[in-house]
Amino acid sequence: MTLRLEEEKVDVHIFRKEHVEQWIAKARSGHEKARVCLWATRKWLEDLPTEYSACSCCDAPLSPDEPPQAFLVLIPVISDPETVSAKVGGICPECSKHENKWLLDKSLRRGSEVLSPL
Ligand SMILES: [Zn+2]
Repeated sequence: MTLRLEEEKVDVHIFRKEHVEQWIAKARSGHEKARVCLWATRKWLEDLPTEYSACSCCDAPLSPDEPPQAFLVLIPVISDPETVSAKVGGICPECSKHENKWLLDKSLRRGSEVLSPL
């Protein structure tokens, strides 16, 4: 799904831990976005103990003791493969029980990341 983040068009992916194997398989077969998703969420999890983060859908604080099982990953549509940057938003365990569409609707409605429809 493509949305707008400020002035930039971004691809929005829901990355779920339970699907990590599929993402890894995709990345291995040369799927660039899958590689970025894996890399960005791994980095985000490494930073979690030192950086305060809240759920992208409901504002619940996220804790490294119970790391999120789902993430919102935003990747610019037009990006330089050398400097590709992705934004990651953690989703709390309660919210990640819902389906992707619900998560997208919720995070859009909150507008925290100034995400908006195209
Ligand atoms: Zn939540």
